[in-house]
Amino acid sequence: MEIGRRDFFKLSGAATAGGFLIYKALDAETAAAEASLDLHKPIGEGYTVCPYDGSGCGFLVAAEDGKVVNIEGDPDHPVNRGAACAKGASMRQLSADNERRLQKPRYRRAGGTEWEDLEWDEALDMIAEKIKATRDANWMENEGDFISRRTEAIGCLGGAALDNEECYLLSKMMRGLGLVYLEHQARI
Ligand code: SF4
Repeated sequence: MEIGRRDFFKLSGAATAGGFLIYKALDAETAAAEASLDLHKPIGEGYTVCPYDGSGCGFLVAAEDGKVVNIEGDPDHPVNRGAACAKGASMRQLSADNERRLQKPRYRRAGGTEWEDLEWDEALDMIAEKIKATRDANWMENEGDFISRRTEAIGCLGGAALDNEECYLLSKMMRGLGLVYLEHQARI
């Protein structure tokens, strides 16, 4: 069958109108389901805003006996309307009473096969010594006509579990140390 230009426009119009009606029907169905379903929890709810990025998604925090037992997207929040990305959905893991949260730095020595717990003081001293030695040995400045003091021997990779404020402080500190290679896991 040959379809002329006029027939093509008629068919396209009919298809679009059909799609619109189906969309409206589904929309009405979703609204009816939401109206009949209580999305709030029966235990103590508090409100918070996700710390992980600038979207500002809203979350409901349910606590029982002083402990966080559940965190999920706030269905009434205008930004995320109950949804959560993978980072936001894992926010419960931040809570201090999460028994699976690591309490100490873990370290695997060069050539070693096992991880060991370190005390914070020991770990921070080790990191500071390595940064200073590497920075001193690889310091660059004033090349050509440009005043440029930096090190290209150290890179900093941020993790997706860092929140906005931690990222801000980390980038300030790294720039202060003269690092130029700053990246974030989310962009790799
Ligand atoms: S839930 Fe995801 S998108 Fe929303 S603010 Fe948190 S990190 Fe950003």
